[in-house]
Amino acid sequence: MGEKHDTLSLGIDLGGTKILTAVANAQGKMLSRDHSITPAKEGQDVVVKSILESVGRALDQAHIAAADLAAIGLGAPGLSNPETGILFTSPNLPGWKNVPLRDIIEKELGRKAFLINDANAAAVGELYFGAGRGARDFIYITVSTGIGGGIIIDRKIYTGSAGMAGELGHMVIDDEGPQCNCGNKGCWETLASGTALAREARHRIKEGAVTSILRYTDGNIEKINAEAIQEAAQAGDKLANELITRAAYYLGVGLANLVNIFNPEAIVIGGGLSNIGDMLLKPAFEEAKRRAFKQAYQAVRFARAELGRDSGVLGAAAFALDKIRATENTLEPNSE
Ligand SMILES: [Zn+2]
Repeated sequence: MGEKHDTLSLGIDLGGTKILTAVANAQGKMLSRDHSITPAKEGQDVVVKSILESVGRALDQAHIAAADLAAIGLGAPGLSNPETGILFTSPNLPGWKNVPLRDIIEKELGRKAFLINDANAAAVGELYFGAGRGARDFIYITVSTGIGGGIIIDRKIYTGSAGMAGELGHMVIDDEGPQCNCGNKGCWETLASGTALAREARHRIKEGAVTSILRYTDGNIEKINAEAIQEAAQAGDKLANELITRAAYYLGVGLANLVNIFNPEAIVIGGGLSNIGDMLLKPAFEEAKRRAFKQAYQAVRFARAELGRDSGVLGAAAFALDKIRATENTLEPNSE
């Protein structure tokens, strides 16, 4: 369709609740985009089948076949190794253990595939097509139900020796803090995520705090989420404002650590909770400023992520293109 000579890749963003699939070119232009639900409870085989169905629809929509793709990039939640293509475990995909996800996808679609952590994929998306475009070194964080991250050094995602780098949400902020899903205590995401905000609200209400938060959840304490707290805060609710200030404080503590460790050009912030905006971010940046080295803080630019929900799928597609090019380049000098 006139795009014949374009280099196309397929991005898959596998989440615990949704699967997003897109065919994109090297400039990040999407030729198609398919969105479906992840049947996580039905187990691995059903989820893999759903991925392949979504891929089929995305290819049809773009009027191409799998054979037209240069590569496939797959972003998945949880711990994985991009070198081996194995997804170790994922809190969002119950029952998955050491799944050779890359090889499964490669075999089914007959194209070279690459596996990457979902937050790392989002960081790559922002690197090429979003808020990280002009930066060499930056840190991406996504603050939603948890906190995910990606470390970009010299315009490359840093994945570590076993592929597990960038688990920024599990940096310990309070050694006696709340229990984390990972088994540790007081991780950043137990104090500064949407889940942390809701948990603290429920705790305070059960202790008898007076608040209007429940007005935004039909009176149901279990339905409390970040949006309800934000709405109550905007309407002037004292507890809701206190809770956001508390989350902002911990967000700032973690940001100060990142500023001091990486001295990055930028920290790009995405994820649902960041949509609270200034009410959360301004006090977080102030706390980071109080704690970080002055010169490092002055050198950092805080930016909001630009790609929204497409960062992961575009990043996965771009990561795959990057990898396939690197493979070709390394083969060149010594080709058989
Ligand atoms: Zn943790």
